[in-house]
Amino acid sequence: MEIGILALQGDVAEHRAALSEIGVASRPVRRPEDLAGLDGVILPGGESTTMSMLLDSSGLADPLGKELDAGLPALGTCAGMILLATEAVDGRSDQRCYGAIDITVRRNGFGRQLESFECELEVPALAGGPLPAVFIRAPVVETIGAEVEVLATLAQPSPGGAREGAEPFGARRAVPVLCRQGVVLVAAFHPELTPDRRVHELFVSSIDGGVRAGSEELSGTQALPGTEEVLATEEVLATEEEGR
Ligand code: GLN
Repeated sequence: MEIGILALQGDVAEHRAALSEIGVASRPVRRPEDLAGLDGVILPGGESTTMSMLLDSSGLADPLGKELDAGLPALGTCAGMILLATEAVDGRSDQRCYGAIDITVRRNGFGRQLESFECELEVPALAGGPLPAVFIRAPVVETIGAEVEVLATLAQPSPGGAREGAEPFGARRAVPVLCRQGVVLVAAFHPELTPDRRVHELFVSSIDGGVRAGSEELSGTQALPGTEEVLATEEVLATEEEGR
């Protein structure tokens, strides 16, 4: 197996190191020919508007889009999540969004106070306890399509977070931060910046199953929380809030 890492800008070395730690070969992707024969691709954290411009100037933008459309498994972290989304609010109007996963995101949506923070996430799909997560000027997922599995949510600790009225998640103050649709996995945080390798392993395990987009048969897939459970979590949070 060989995973490509979009290497135009951002956390490229960190993703390569993470893959190497779990015994997976990787290749930096800078030109269209670097995409040949890959089993998956990682779009790293960094700056999505810059990456988008570099995708265009390198000639990679359309070839990468074709690969994603054809079902190339992809992991996007933070800026990479924005690039894989269907739409980015508060981005540049000419910014690339590949629509590889049916989510809309708001760039820097956690607000100024919370530009960067660390926390522990409950991820029911991952055995081994809470997942440490680093958020750096992270995008907020504002809407998700019916095919999207929400693997983790974050209760926003401040009402100054997602913009008021940004339904369905912003106003409820709990937002999806780890989502999957088929073989596309996205995180609003940076699993490449913590020593915990479970997100990379989860991504690689979906490829091990030999699945490309459109297949229902993801290997190792467990029952995952759907939107109902996210909303249930939000109700619990709201109840706790009232109790204070
Ligand atoms: N805010 C950045 C963007 O819009 C993402 C930040 C990150 O990747 N840490 O691209």
